[in-house]
Amino acid sequence: LTGESEGLSASEKDAEKALRPLSFSDFTGQEKIVENIKVYVQAAKQRGEALDHVLLHGPPGLGKTTLSHIIANELQTSIKITSGPVLDKPSDLAGLLTNLEANDVLFIDEIHRLNPIVEEYLYSAMEDFRIDIMLDSGPNARSIQIGLSPFTLIGATTRAGLLTSPLRARFGINARLEYYDANLLTSIVKRSSAILQTPIADDAAFELARRSRGTPRIANTLLRRTRDFAQIKGDGTIAMHIAKMALNALDVDENGLDEMDNRILLTIIEKFKGGPVGISTIASAVAEEAETIEEVYEPFLIQEGYLKRTSRGREATEKAYKHLKIAIPGGRGA
Ligand code: ADP
Repeated sequence: LTGESEGLSASEKDAEKALRPLSFSDFTGQEKIVENIKVYVQAAKQRGEALDHVLLHGPPGLGKTTLSHIIANELQTSIKITSGPVLDKPSDLAGLLTNLEANDVLFIDEIHRLNPIVEEYLYSAMEDFRIDIMLDSGPNARSIQIGLSPFTLIGATTRAGLLTSPLRARFGINARLEYYDANLLTSIVKRSSAILQTPIADDAAFELARRSRGTPRIANTLLRRTRDFAQIKGDGTIAMHIAKMALNALDVDENGLDEMDNRILLTIIEKFKGGPVGISTIASAVAEEAETIEEVYEPFLIQEGYLKRTSRGREATEKAYKHLKIAIPGGRGA
């Protein structure tokens, strides 16, 4: 339930695709970003130019990939998809770039994980629509310049802070996606259940929404699992008691924290006296990658006020103690 796309099986990816909005009008929330991007898209289209390069950042599952597909759809161009870790060598990148047609979109997911050599090549591609390729090596080495069709790079990242400044500077459009509130997620859940042809009660839709960590991908995953419970333990309709049964079975608690969220908080409190404690220490104590904790769990726990980030490490807040029903040392408030 991490909201990461990497760990999804092929069938889950297919299920996700079926629920993916295809146009701006289907895309719920992120209003400011969408309104701005609509203007940029329309303007570029009118001029017959490529849209400026776009950097989308924010936690996994908030719609970065979805929005990129929508942008290409609305530009009426094709989109080629790749990701930072996949682009191993400059020739991988060159192959993709030389195959783009005028004004196409190249989507690079996890752009903060680009190999630095590949990244160098990207600079001139983004800026001047050309790449210099080295042929041969040693005394025969020579470089040739290849001109590219104008294109739009859309980079997505969960960690904008890890982008180098030369790369960041080459994006003309920069947008940070935020967590969704429960009302927005309720409409996403309802839209998805209509596509899945599963009736859902209003209160049940809201219940799934408010316990989805502010994340559409998680809302859709919870919905698909809840639909299974409705089918096997109920009459096929998602009623409130079915939603609660499923959330319970999936270890999503009353406040929408999942098992790992709670494990992280409990570890900080029980093993490290509430912190401050470093991220790598927490990671080994809960047997999860530090990177995943930083990208997936921590941003939500901080936003919801369970966790604080200080110069000396992470600290559990009063809210975390109350949530876990543990007395606060010193007896404050609890
Ligand atoms: P990211 O690229 O940020 O990890 P995705 O774009 O893959 O996230 O979104 C994950 C899933 O969540 C998509 O398949 C889509 O169904 C759903 N989703 C994301 N954002 C929205 C939205 N604004 N409205 C409706 N569904 C959304």
